[in-house]
Amino acid sequence: MKVLVIASDRLGAPSAATARAVTAGMQLGTVDLLAAGHASKDKGAAGRLLAGVEKVIHVTHADEFPPSTENLASLIARLAPGYRWILAVHDGFGADLIPRVGGLLATSPVTQVSAITDPVTLIRPVHAGQAMVRVVLERFPALLTIRPTAFPPAPMSSSPAPVMELECVQAVPSGRHEGFVSISSQRPDLSQAAIIVVGGQGLESSGSFAAVETLADRLGAAVGATRGAVDAGLASSDLQIGQTGRIVAPDLYIGLGVSGAIQHLAGIKDAKVIVAINHDPDAPLHAVADFSLVADLFDAAAHMGQILSKGIDIINLKHGTVR
Ligand SMILES: Cc1cc2nc3c(=O)[nH]c(=O)nc-3n(C[C@H](O)[C@H](O)[C@H](O)COP(=O)(O)OP(=O)(O)OC[C@H]3O[C@@H](n4cnc5c(N)ncnc54)[C@H](O)[C@@H]3O)c2cc1C
Repeated sequence: MKVLVIASDRLGAPSAATARAVTAGMQLGTVDLLAAGHASKDKGAAGRLLAGVEKVIHVTHADEFPPSTENLASLIARLAPGYRWILAVHDGFGADLIPRVGGLLATSPVTQVSAITDPVTLIRPVHAGQAMVRVVLERFPALLTIRPTAFPPAPMSSSPAPVMELECVQAVPSGRHEGFVSISSQRPDLSQAAIIVVGGQGLESSGSFAAVETLADRLGAAVGATRGAVDAGLASSDLQIGQTGRIVAPDLYIGLGVSGAIQHLAGIKDAKVIVAINHDPDAPLHAVADFSLVADLFDAAAHMGQILSKGIDIINLKHGTVR
């Protein structure tokens, strides 16, 4: 039984998220990887080396660069009869693309799959992760998005899969693509980071994210934000973690001035150790935290900075020591 996995990255080589989608796909059947977008020739070539990929479908696009999700969706709908499952990562791209394919095939996608019990039985969160449901597939091809943090990345293989070229015709007139803006940062990527320092709306009184950024840089951590912080203009929306933001799975999550609303917790379910720093003892983040500090976040961040500058190990994790 065949699975079509859509590479999540439209720029550059396949990301760890694509490798995780391949792992999910392999739990269902044999995987073809569809790679489309800017620099997709290189991406297709690198995708050949993911263990478990039987074939790479490299989408070329003469007029449109890169293909819009409307046109990709119509291409995928044409390929659909050859597959029993069509699967993408639940990120901005996958969450845009898969419902469009669903519209064309008149099929409801099953989103944010977090476990695959067997090829027709899937587990996914509902109510912002407050409950998990078991979904039994009855209609095929089934359309899925997966939570990337729930699946390990597929390893690299030494025998490259063959590549098939396929042109994406611009069937649906869509808006003109003006280009991608790539945001470069010295900090680790949120979805891969082992340590994440997250700032909430509690930082509003300082008017900046400086306390979060300073602590993150000392720890070699990524910076994340709540929607409260994004809406308050303290952080950019690409840093938002949660139900409508990024899903993360760090070894260590430190929340500064984060209340711990369920929509935020939905994005940090897979964090191994949670540290909450909030002056309100009733803040919900304290209830899920492994370590709670009821304190002013600015004092706490400064003290952590002082401790770190003395080179003292502050947190001993199961998987090592964070300084
Ligand atoms: C459909 C939907 C989707 C959503 N998706 C998301 C999402 O993806 N991600 C997300 O984060 N939210 C999301 N939200 C919003 C969510 O419900 C909360 O409003 C948001 O998470 C609150 O952000 P916050 O914790 O920064 O702010 P607040 O709730 O305002 O909390 C700020 C906290 O800081 C503490 N604080 C203030 N000053 C200090 C200080 N000096 N020292 C220590 N502590 C201090 C306060 O005690 C408070 O607990 C969504 C909501 C909806 C309805």
